[in-house]
Amino acid sequence: MRAFTPFTQLLALCALAASAAAADYTGPLFDAHLHYNEEAWNGQAGPHPLEDVLARMQRNGVRAIVANSRPNDGTRSLASSPQVRQAGVTVVPFVRLYRSRADYDNWYRDPAIYEMVETELARGTASGPYRGIGEFHLYDSANANGPIARKLMALADDKGLAVLAHVDDAAIDLLMANTGSRGQKTRLIWAHTGIGGAPVARVDQLFARYPLLMGELSYRPGLTCEGGTLCPEWRALLVKYPGRFMVGSDTWVNQRWQYYDDTMKGYRTWLGELPPALARRIAWDNAADLFGVKAP
Ligand SMILES: [Zn+2]
Repeated sequence: MRAFTPFTQLLALCALAASAAAADYTGPLFDAHLHYNEEAWNGQAGPHPLEDVLARMQRNGVRAIVANSRPNDGTRSLASSPQVRQAGVTVVPFVRLYRSRADYDNWYRDPAIYEMVETELARGTASGPYRGIGEFHLYDSANANGPIARKLMALADDKGLAVLAHVDDAAIDLLMANTGSRGQKTRLIWAHTGIGGAPVARVDQLFARYPLLMGELSYRPGLTCEGGTLCPEWRALLVKYPGRFMVGSDTWVNQRWQYYDDTMKGYRTWLGELPPALARRIAWDNAADLFGVKAP
């Protein structure tokens, strides 16, 4: 029997290598952080007209999107497009808080932004009412207590609107404190789940504290390790909170449209390492459940 041992070991090694290189996730994707900004289409054409961005979604199996844009015209053009509807891509529109880049660092104290949000909410889109507010940024978490930031969080909580927030972990607590439910009913999607790389233990603490806090995973530092595979502590967090994470493209500049295929391929790679039911939840179900989008 000894003569067979090396061969048996080789077989065992081959089996191990095959299981390590798991197949990519092949189901539908919900892009929960998409921008269709002015520079992408210039109000009508631009480098990424509607047909271009739709083709990118279609060839990557993206069947629903959270759409927001600076200004909001890009979102409305996606929401009213017959091609998008015919392609079976569901648009979940959010009101962006920025008319131009100057608003990035002033929205939280500018009453004109609150008025714009009220006007947009009243107006709605061809794909139905707006379902959320954002993405907004807070480069200094203390500005979560700015007068307009407070009013918008209270409004979102009252109306059951989701909020897409690019903020640090300290700002999550501050924003939640400014809602009527103290964050217990607040549908806050944490863009990048903290782009500054809040430690996993801190993310875990916030997820435990706020039951409807969701984590969007683009640009998240520490999520993937060598070869685009999941880092162990992040894998454990995804397993611990199967209903709380989602993926997004964050097409904040045109380069992100150019690399849209790579972004989605990257997601499919690490999603493929997870048990299929969990992969599907992060890829699709969690966002679809949040907005009541039917399975494609
Ligand atoms: Zn973004």
